Formats: sequence, structure tokens, C-alpha cells
Amino acid sequence: FRSSRLYVCLLLILEELRFPWRTLCHLPQPTASYLMKLDVNVLRYLGKDDFRVLTAVEMGQKNHEIVPSSLVDTIASLKHGGTHKCLKELLRHKLVHHESKKYDGYRLTNMGYDFLAIKTLTARGVMSSVGRKIGVGKEADVYEVADDEGNRMCLKLHRLGRTSFRAVKSKRDYLRQGSHYSWLYLSRLSAVKEFAFMRALQTRGLPVPEAIDQNRHAVLMSLVDAFPLVQIKELASPARIYTQLIDLMERLAQMGLVHCDFNEFNILINEEEEITLIDFPQMVSTNHANAEELFERDVDCLIRFFSKKLGYVPSLDSALKRVRPNFQLASPSAGDLDSELRASGFKREHQAALDSVAEDDSDSEAGSGEEEEEEESSSEPECEPEASSSSGSDGEEEEDSEEEASEEEADTKAGRASPAAVAAAEKPREGVAEASGKDSDNDDAASLSTVATGILSMRISGRPTPAVSLVGG
Ligand code: ADP
Ligand code: MG
Repeated sequence: FRSSRLYVCLLLILEELRFPWRTLCHLPQPTASYLMKLDVNVLRYLGKDDFRVLTAVEMGQKNHEIVPSSLVDTIASLKHGGTHKCLKELLRHKLVHHESKKYDGYRLTNMGYDFLAIKTLTARGVMSSVGRKIGVGKEADVYEVADDEGNRMCLKLHRLGRTSFRAVKSKRDYLRQGSHYSWLYLSRLSAVKEFAFMRALQTRGLPVPEAIDQNRHAVLMSLVDAFPLVQIKELASPARIYTQLIDLMERLAQMGLVHCDFNEFNILINEEEEITLIDFPQMVSTNHANAEELFERDVDCLIRFFSKKLGYVPSLDSALKRVRPNFQLASPSAGDLDSELRASGFKREHQAALDSVAEDDSDSEAGSGEEEEEEESSSEPECEPEASSSSGSDGEEEEDSEEEASEEEADTKAGRASPAAVAAAEKPREGVAEASGKDSDNDDAASLSTVATGILSMRISGRPTPAVSLVGG
């Protein structure tokens, strides 16, 4: 009975009804992302006003942890009122969370933020349906998605700070003070960084997924039909794969980069034993103070995995040209990669913000346990860096007058979408290639304006989910 479908269905129903069967059976609680599973069917029930209000909550969160209902109402400025009704609907679908402890207000849930990104990507026409979850990583949920032609792709939703944010959050109400940032902002930065790196590595011919588009905390990339190395028990030619991997590490170093998570979870391998490297938010520059140490740790992890799990010990293979890759091959400067990354929207202050998460991680304790979606168990326990402090854009000083915070707050300070923002939203997008941190404020306004004019057709809810055969992590 335990392995039957009926049993699974019964458990799922009990889970949905929030029946405490796990507690009664002394079983561990499910991970939060399980409780907050992305149900895109909900999109079908949401009207344009609902999305306008959801976007208003997002805008309000740029300078409020909890957005007072009155502010949501002002930002949304619905023609015929009804913000409260929309908030109730959003609450019902768990897209916003209601708080009344300090003051009455709302904030987005992970799912609320996911919906905004998915809706924007759908409006751009780059994807149109969401399939099953194919991976839960340390700091992301990964879904298989498809476009109108049925081409399968991969959507990675970054969840930066989900393990530590409650503690960070409890320290302050105002999110832009000191080094504390909202998880919305940090997750978005992480996505911007990953997209920029993936694209840069892709243009340099490295085996990485194709970076297709990015919005908010979401990165759309090609779907690699392969399995994480961790799921492989035996390789036909371990020496060849091992050599390819250390060559890849050296090539990255020559470009001025250390992956910092170069392990069996982030190396995908297909039936033909071809490798693809994924997961780039934690990459650092070879100019980073600990770059060599981080590089050597990646090498140790790889050697450990090959020796222990695959039974191939590189140091015992006399035919192997070299056992360890050489960090000294790293170019003294990161070359043109740094400037390329900044041009793509990932700036020095963004890296500083991401670094602050690592600091917060180390000095904060676990939170109160009352949040419904911000706890997650890691599925990559073995060879992870203790703190993923990174500074991918080390180098010369950079004058960048663009102040993210003030730029972002402009609209909300005014209390409603500014005319400039709405005008920007009305302009057609200049191509997906430009998707990065730079345009996401336009995207915010774009979604508000698009929702208002009702242009978006949520084809996403009308399509069947793509068939998948990939085994997730
Ligand atoms: P995290 O930062 O959370 O570790 P990853 O980028 O490593 O996120 O993705 C988590 C898992 O999702 C991977 O182990 C892999 O199984 C799957 N995955 C990620 N990107 C792709 C992709 N482009 N194609 C296929 N599977 C992917
Ligand atoms: Mg990973």
C-alpha cells in the first residue's frame, strides 16, 4: 500500500488540508518550497486588477518590508477601487502574506514574486508554459518550461537569502539601511549575475546552458538533457571526463574566474558523457583575496567525488597528464570579462549587496519559524563553500552614478507609477538580449502598465504542462 499511488494521493490530500500527519508519524516536516509549490493554474483566476495590486505590493516593498494597505492602494490606484478585494484574492492564492503585528500590511510571497517574473517572461513571448520542477538547489528552484512552439527550456527562480533572510529581516524594518537588503532585491541580483556570467561564458565557447532571458529573480536558459554527475554511478571513461573538467577549471581561471561550486551537483552529464557546467551566482574573480583557496577547494571536491563515488583515483592513474589543474595559469587581470559583465547590468554595488548576504549568514541565527515559505533544506551538502562571499568584479575603481536604490524608489516615493515609467512601459522591448538588471525597473512599470491595459493573455494557463523525463536534483 505504501508504494501505491493511492497512498501518495492520500498523503498529498492530507498535506493540502494541512493535516499534521507528519507530526503524528514523527516524520520530518516537508521543505517549504513543497508547501509553496508553484501552481501556475492560479494565473487563470487572476484578473488584471489582481496583477496590478500584486505589482503594487512589489513596488511598495522597494522601501517597506511590509507594505501598508493604504500604500498598496495608492500605488495601484485602481480606477474603480477594489484594492482590498484584490488583496484578499491574492492572499487566498498565497501570492501575498498578510502581517498585522507591527502594522497592518502585505508583502509578496516567493510564489507572488515567481508569478510576476513568469508573467513578464510570458508577455515577452519567450516562454508560455510551466512544467514540473526539475531541481531544488541550495538557492533556487528550477522548472522545466516551454514556449509556444513547445521548445523546452529551463527556468531558474533564485531564492537568495531564504535560509537567512528571516534573521536579517527581523533586524530592521526599513530595507535599504546599512547592508540589509530585501530578498526580492538580492534574488534579483543573483539572477542578473548568473545571466551575465552564463552569457559571457557561452560566447567564449564554454559548455554552459544558453542564457535566453532574465527578469526579476528568474533566469531562462536552455534545458540541458543531462543528469547531475552526483546521480551517476559509473562512467565509461572517467579519465577523459576528469581531464575535461580540470581543463574547464583552468579555462575559467584563464578568463579570470573561479566557479566556487564546481562540484558533482553543478556538472551535468548526458548519455554521450558530454559535460555542461551550471550554477554561476557564486563565481568570483581570480583577483579575489581567497581565489586560489577557493579554486583548490573546488579541485579537492572533484578529486574526492571521483575517488570515492566513481572509484577513479586521479593520483593513481599514471596515464593522466596532470592530477590537479594549475591556478597559476590564471590571468593576472580578469581581461575584458569584468567590463562586459558591468555592461550587462551587474555592477560593483550589486556584488557588495550579494556579499552582505554571506556576512549576514555568518552572524545571524535562525528565525522564529513562523514564515511559511522561507525555509529550505540544502540538497548540496558535501562540497559547498561555507560562505559564498564573492566579488566577481574586483579590479579598478568604477564610476557608476546609477544608484539602484534611489532609482528603484523613485516610483514608490511618488506613491504611484510615474508617467515616465508608464511611458517607458509603453515602448516595445528592444529584444530579449538586453534583459538584465538595467531594464527590470522598466519591467516593473511595464507589468503595471500592461496589467492595466489588459494586454497580457495568460496563455500559460491554457496549455498542458510539457512532458518531462529529466530527473531533478
Ligand atoms: P542552485 O544554485 O540552487 O544549486 P542550480 O543551478 O545548481 O541551482 O540548479 C539546481 C538543479 O536544477 C541542478 O542540479 C540540475 O539538476 C537542475 N538544472 C539547473 N539548470 C539546468 C539546466 N539548464 N538544464 C537542466 N537541468 C538544470
Ligand atoms: Mg547548484
